[in-house]
Amino acid sequence: RKVLTDRINRIEVSATMAITAEALKLKAQGIDLADFGAGEPHFSTPQHIKDAAIEAINSNFTRYTAVAGIPQVRQAIVDRHASDFKTNYTPEECVFSAGGKLAIFNAAEVLIDHGDEVIIPTPFWVSYKDIVEFVGGKCVFVETSEADNFRVTKEMIEAAITPKTKAIILNFPSNPSGAILPKEDLFDIIRLCHERGIYALLDECYVYLAFDGDIYSGASLTECKEHIIVLGSLSKTYAMTGWRAGFALGPKQIIGAMSKLQSQSTSNTSSIVQRASIAALASSQECVAVMREDYIKLRDRVLEGFKTIPGLTCTVPQGAFYVYPNIKNFLGKGGINTASEMAAKLLSEAHIVTVPGEPFGTKEHIRLSYAVSADVIDKGIERLRTFLGNLK
Ligand code: PLP
Repeated sequence: RKVLTDRINRIEVSATMAITAEALKLKAQGIDLADFGAGEPHFSTPQHIKDAAIEAINSNFTRYTAVAGIPQVRQAIVDRHASDFKTNYTPEECVFSAGGKLAIFNAAEVLIDHGDEVIIPTPFWVSYKDIVEFVGGKCVFVETSEADNFRVTKEMIEAAITPKTKAIILNFPSNPSGAILPKEDLFDIIRLCHERGIYALLDECYVYLAFDGDIYSGASLTECKEHIIVLGSLSKTYAMTGWRAGFALGPKQIIGAMSKLQSQSTSNTSSIVQRASIAALASSQECVAVMREDYIKLRDRVLEGFKTIPGLTCTVPQGAFYVYPNIKNFLGKGGINTASEMAAKLLSEAHIVTVPGEPFGTKEHIRLSYAVSADVIDKGIERLRTFLGNLK
């Protein structure tokens, strides 16, 4: 009799987590790594957020709460969203989950049936594919062009729609490319989804880390609300990756189903994290602006560094904290034929941690997270220049 289910065998360990594990082994051997692997802020959680958690513990706010989160945290989420994006969600249209990833997973669980198709533009965040496949759905990838800054258009989506299409997952700013879809393109795609009865899952995990213009959400298109599900996270916005704080906003029926699922799995997210999240969402957003300014400087530093490496090309990321350079000019050299081989060699020989493009759906890129100190960037660029320069 087989031990594991078919559904668990359909998925892989998250590629970014696998790289992190490998890097940790080298670190344990005392090797100094230039680590661009982990997708998390290098900042500490702001003090006022930590204080709220400590206060929650000291006041014994340590018991079970409502499964979907206490009313105050859901109110804080909908208020933040309303004030930033002119949306009109109510607390009943909001569920608080243990991280944005769980919110995406729960949304997939309640929306995707066996055989349902989910459109995913490439490059995409690694977990979408596994989550969709785990719940029995079929991913329909829509290839975008690097020359067009990974832009996805309504026409491209329209061509991928079939009678089985149930949802689309959109993520801007994008992990891994940092690309942002122009507002009109985003709105056109969401209008198309609404007309066709397709759910637009908007992964807004990096929405506040948009650098070069307006910060906008597709959910502002309130006339399409019926088919929009916002999947949000406090992880990146407030440097809270370890706390596990995420949420979904959407139609009551769907949010209710996600809460029901949560009632039979995690129950409520940590009561302490809920209190801390209220502090994050409802107080001054100055800390977010400060971190954003820093990411912009770090992005520019990485791009300046890349310019000193002949053969390496890169789109200009407009948000998040990733760069996605194209390494095709180096493939075929030094026994390196794929992005995975490049990432492996960069780690073992140059001691640079990157993530290969394949799990993000492209073959000629590697991803670097620049949520690191300027020193790490300088050290990493130096190593990259030497390593790539010596490849024959
Ligand atoms: N969505 C994207 C695009 C991400 O990059 C991540 C984390 O890396 C998440 C969602 C999930 O974040 P969390 O589960 O920490 O809220």
